[in-house]
Amino acid sequence: MVRIGVLALQGGFEAHARVYAALGVNVVEVRRVVQLRDIDGLVLPGGESTTLLKLMEDEPWFEALSDFHADGKALFATCAGAILLAREVLDSGQRALGLLDASIRRNAFGRQIDSFEADLALDGEREPLRAVFIRAPRFTATGPDVEVLARLDDEPVLVLQDNILAATFHPELTADPRIHCRFLDLAAGLERPVAERATGVAAG
Ligand code: GLN
Repeated sequence: MVRIGVLALQGGFEAHARVYAALGVNVVEVRRVVQLRDIDGLVLPGGESTTLLKLMEDEPWFEALSDFHADGKALFATCAGAILLAREVLDSGQRALGLLDASIRRNAFGRQIDSFEADLALDGEREPLRAVFIRAPRFTATGPDVEVLARLDDEPVLVLQDNILAATFHPELTADPRIHCRFLDLAAGLERPVAERATGVAAG
């Protein structure tokens, strides 16, 4: 059975854990680097990316998460989590893991609409997805290996790149578990390291 962890240093981790518990999934709150060994996929929840970064100084999280990704394990980042994974955080200059080939801008929807909801067309599905945006960031550029699964006004808001799923909204705050289910598939299906898979593709 797939084991999912939710990074529980700060932010909206409980809501993610509740979604997985309701789906009958084996889910744990992750507070220590060593716990990454026991899971197949990790959720990086929304919250405040600057606070998260501070809390991540206590242990070698950057190295551990890069290794986790290189081992072919799956990452599901929402909102502040997506900011942490990006290649570049525009304007703020804050540190980021650089695992997702995308540039991102924090709090990019302006103060007058700090929070809002919208219906999104979801790649491959008929039913629209209700999405909650809270002081949301915006992907301003995405690399060639980044597949866009949902857009808002033509801009990517849900993306997939190898074993990374990232949303600028909060799928854990609506009753629709489709995005969490997609992540389960990702965490279950990738058993080989990214580098190996890339070699496999190149070799045909
Ligand atoms: N504005 C937050 C940040 O920059 C992200 C908001 C969220 O996660 N809901 O970290």
